[in-house]
Amino acid sequence: MGENYKTLPIVQKLSKGEETVWVNPKKIPFAENRQGISMADIDEAEARLQRFAPFIMKCFPETEKDGGMIESVLTSISGMQKHLEETYGVQIPGRLMLKQDGHLAIAGSVKARGGIYEVLKHTEELAFEKGLIKVGDDYGKLANEECREFFGQYTIQVGSTGNLGLSIGIASAAVGYKVIVHMSADAKQWKKDMLRSHGVTVVEYESDYTAAVKEGRRLSDEDPKSYFVDDENSVNLFMGYAVAAKRLKKQLEEQRILVDGDHPLFVYIPCGVGGAPGGITFGLKEIWGDHVHCFFVEPVQAPAMLLGMATGLHNEICVQDIGLSGLTHADGLAVGRPSGFVGKVVEPLLSGEFTLQDKWLYEYMRGLLDTEGIFLEPSACAAFEGPARLLSYKETKDYIKENGLAEKMGAAVHIAWATGGSLVPEKVRAEYQNTYL
Ligand SMILES: *Cc1c(COP(=O)(O)O)cnc(C)c1O
Repeated sequence: MGENYKTLPIVQKLSKGEETVWVNPKKIPFAENRQGISMADIDEAEARLQRFAPFIMKCFPETEKDGGMIESVLTSISGMQKHLEETYGVQIPGRLMLKQDGHLAIAGSVKARGGIYEVLKHTEELAFEKGLIKVGDDYGKLANEECREFFGQYTIQVGSTGNLGLSIGIASAAVGYKVIVHMSADAKQWKKDMLRSHGVTVVEYESDYTAAVKEGRRLSDEDPKSYFVDDENSVNLFMGYAVAAKRLKKQLEEQRILVDGDHPLFVYIPCGVGGAPGGITFGLKEIWGDHVHCFFVEPVQAPAMLLGMATGLHNEICVQDIGLSGLTHADGLAVGRPSGFVGKVVEPLLSGEFTLQDKWLYEYMRGLLDTEGIFLEPSACAAFEGPARLLSYKETKDYIKENGLAEKMGAAVHIAWATGGSLVPEKVRAEYQNTYL
């Protein structure tokens, strides 16, 4: 494409830092979708998490009550729905719900899904190699002193804007590994402090996320006993996120909420490098196909995935190439260059993307706290831009008509994927609540 992308209307809008929506022209009917990965891969990831449940319970006693399963609740938020409608003069037909990944055990963010899964998968491989366990064993024994000492010879490294570092750091330290987290300049101080309190080595960078990842990968590659969690390319992380879809299916069934040709499901997920929203989307589409409509949300200064998908250049373009800063209060979304792997997988699946200005993160945060008493971190609040704006843009209104959904919106379910928040310290919460941009 060369520099021709610069003339695309969507790129011109993005380069001005304007809020916008993009409907994905490359989405195809689910039946025509062909991928190298499938439901069988998600099943395998789910089974692995199940095998590790006794181990997770031992390492993280807070998961005992859920039998070692790390999962979040799905709740109706009619108060927030009414608040959005009344405050912003919009309509949200159907029911608005919140998937509370901000309350996931251990990591307090969606990263508890992919991050912990990848650490466990690596642990299983090492344990088999060394003969610490064999097929059919109770994995609980991997938490004993002897195994911990064994894992202590190995290092796990990761580059992060914050939450992935927290997830990988806390989980790896609990297993017994040495851990080094390479933090980009956007990472919040409290996240670094919390990691250090778990014995994790935190290396700080003055550059952005992409540079932190690059240096972390280089240092890890130099050490044969070090394993690098590659947020940009990891299929393991992706599958850990995808398991969320199977869990969500069960939760919707338990609440007797239908998803089918007459009951569309809309899901809105904040997007950084793309792994978490991409993995979740992949899983949701495997289950509900054309009945589920997935939208990502990114900050106006860091719409990395949107830019990569709209130009078809994926990880060969970054937001700085179109004059954006990449800077945002949404630290979890402060990514300038998207994952190429994820962009290509979701290209035929994703319905579209919204971008939003940072000030809305805090407005939505206060709205949710006031109406539902639930605290989310700023990055997670980006999700609300989806339901709030779905019917305000011509592009998404056309999407609804063209997909034959206009008559069905009253029966729709909208899920805002609340990706983080429960670990935010009280003092920082108070600062956020008083932030007005
Ligand atoms: C990491 C993160 C995301 C986005 O996940 P990616 O895999 O980077 O796209 C969204 N919200 C929060 C709170 C996060 O920490």
